[in-house]
Amino acid sequence: MTTQRQRTASRRVLLSLGGLALLSACAKPQPDPSGPPATVAAPSSAPPLPPSASPSPTGLPRIPVQKKPRYVVPAQGGTKVVALTFDDGPHPAYTPQVLKILRKHHVKATFFVIGQSAAAHPDLVRAIVDDGHAVGTHTWSHANLRHLPAGRVRTEVGRAVDTVAATTGRIPGLFRAPYGNWSPTVFQVCAALGQTSIAWDVDPRDWENPGASRIRSKVLDQVGNRSIVLAHDGGGDRSQTVSALRGFLPILIDSGYRFVGV
Ligand SMILES: [Zn+2]
Repeated sequence: MTTQRQRTASRRVLLSLGGLALLSACAKPQPDPSGPPATVAAPSSAPPLPPSASPSPTGLPRIPVQKKPRYVVPAQGGTKVVALTFDDGPHPAYTPQVLKILRKHHVKATFFVIGQSAAAHPDLVRAIVDDGHAVGTHTWSHANLRHLPAGRVRTEVGRAVDTVAATTGRIPGLFRAPYGNWSPTVFQVCAALGQTSIAWDVDPRDWENPGASRIRSKVLDQVGNRSIVLAHDGGGDRSQTVSALRGFLPILIDSGYRFVGV
């Protein structure tokens, strides 16, 4: 449910970023390769709702500057947990298929959406939220942020945050850099915008379309307690990812994993 406070916060986002989301309803998503593999870093808690005082330009509170992204989810008292994440959507063909599989198994995931795609398919963003999943952002245009100056990083990140906030009524606080390319500048901008950077420790490289069985076996080989699994519901033909998900999800469930947010 959308609260008045969230709506107010969304308006503040639009105002602070110049209402950019309103100007960009017809943009097209970019293709994806994803980033490099990752190692373990310290987790932190989910971002809070917008505060009433001293909001950052997105409306979320400024957070401490991260030195590296989060690679695994917080420990959950000995329970075996895993987080599924999907990048580069929403996509009209594949996002609904992923949602259907997750729904069938009562599993929640996190979707890092591209701002342009979210603006083009707001109904899909709302479908993700309506199914109880978390939505983070993945820049406006799937830009490689590594060598961009702060102003352009801020536009790429803020515009995507703005779009999701305007679409869902909730300001997203989770961010994933395209290609896994963070930089000190990116961490500084994200901190100012209240965005926590989330990476992964399991990468089946589904964006290379290596075959559904290979994607499935890579996930099952690499996954462990507190893993964050990287997969894609957009950026190209993701039918192999969908097929692999159908295969590995029941196996993870039978292995005793509980599915959590990042
Ligand atoms: Zn991506």
